Amino acid sequence: MSDRTEISELGEFELIHQLTKDVKTTQPSTVQGIGDDAAVIDRGDHYELVSTDLLVEGVHFDMSYTPLKHLGYKAISVNLSDIFAMNGTPTHVTVSLAISSRFPYEAVNELYDGIKAACERFGVDLVGGDTTSSITGMMISVTAIGRVAKEKLALRSGAKENDLICVSGDLGGAYIGLQILEREKMVWKDNPEIQPDLEGFDYVIERFLKPEARADVIEELGKLGITPTSMIDISDGLGSELLHIARQSQCGVRVYEEKIPLDASTITQCQEFKMEPSVCALSGGEDYELLFTIPQSDFEAASKSEFFSIIGHITDAASGSAIVYPQGEEIQIKAQGWKSI
Ligand code: ADP
Ligand code: MG
Repeated sequence: MSDRTEISELGEFELIHQLTKDVKTTQPSTVQGIGDDAAVIDRGDHYELVSTDLLVEGVHFDMSYTPLKHLGYKAISVNLSDIFAMNGTPTHVTVSLAISSRFPYEAVNELYDGIKAACERFGVDLVGGDTTSSITGMMISVTAIGRVAKEKLALRSGAKENDLICVSGDLGGAYIGLQILEREKMVWKDNPEIQPDLEGFDYVIERFLKPEARADVIEELGKLGITPTSMIDISDGLGSELLHIARQSQCGVRVYEEKIPLDASTITQCQEFKMEPSVCALSGGEDYELLFTIPQSDFEAASKSEFFSIIGHITDAASGSAIVYPQGEEIQIKAQGWKSI
C-alpha cells in the first residue's frame, strides 16, 4: 500500500519546507534563496530582488464582488509589496494569465487597465509574461524585479534583542472588508432582487479590494536615515508575520495590544461583527502593510513619523512571542499561519 499524505495536513509553510529543504544554491551571486519576501541576487554594485505570486480565482479572489480593474491593480500591488519588504525599489514586472472561455476580451482588457494603472502608479515597467487558456477560472501570476543598495537590504532574519517593532498604516481593515463583501454576497444569493448595500464601508472594502503597496513608507525610512534590521510585509496577519521574524531572527517578540494601529472604521465594523479589532489585525491578513524592526538608537527619528507606529520590542528567543494586554497579561502568539492552502 502506498503512502498518501494530504497536503491539508501539512499546511502551506510545512509543504514549502518539505519540498525545498534539500534545495542547495550553487551560484555565488545567490545571497538569499527561498525563505524571505524576495530572493536576493548579488549584481556587483547592488542587490537584485525577485519575487513571484500566484492569484487563483475562488481561492484568492471571488468574481462575484471583485471588479476586474481592482483585481489587476491588486495583483501588481501585492507583488511589489514583497520588494518593498526587502527595503527595495521595484523596477520591472512580468504578468502571466490563464483564462477560461467564460471571460470575454472586454473583461481581460479591464483587468489590464488595473495592471497598467498600478505599473504607472509605482513606476515599474511591464516587460513580459505568458497567456494561456484554462479549463475553469482565471489565474494571474506576477513576478516582480527590483533593486536595493547593499547596505540597505532588510531580511526577515536581522532582528536583534531590544530592537523596536514597528508597523506601517493600520491593520485589520482588509479582513473586515472581506467579511462585509462575503455577507453581502450571501444576502444577494438568497435574494437577487436586493442590491448589495456597501455604503459607509468604503475604507475597509478598498483595503481588501485595492491594497496600496507601501512605497511611501520605504521612502520615509530613507528620508529618516533608518535602515530596518528586519522587515516583512503583512499578507497573512500580524501574528503570523511576527512569528516569521522571531523564527528567522532567532528571537522573541513582545507586542502591546493597545499599540496595534486600527482605523476608526475598522473598529466600528468589528463591533458590528462582534469581533475584537486586534484579533482581526493579528489573524486577518491581506493588509499589505510593512512590519519591521529598528535599533533603539533610531527611536527619536521613528517616533516623529506619521507613517508607522512602534508596537513592541524584540526579546531573547527563550522569552517566546507574546501579545501583552493592557492589564499586563501575556498571550502567546499561535502559529496560525499554517493554514491549509
Ligand atoms: P510571501 O507571503 O512573502 O509571498 P510565501 O509564504 O509565499 O512568501 O513564500 C515563502 C518563501 O517560499 C518565499 O521565499 C518563496 O519564494 C518560497 N516558495 C513558495 N512556494 C515555493 C515553491 N513552490 N517552490 C520554491 N519556493 C517556494
Ligand atoms: Mg511577503
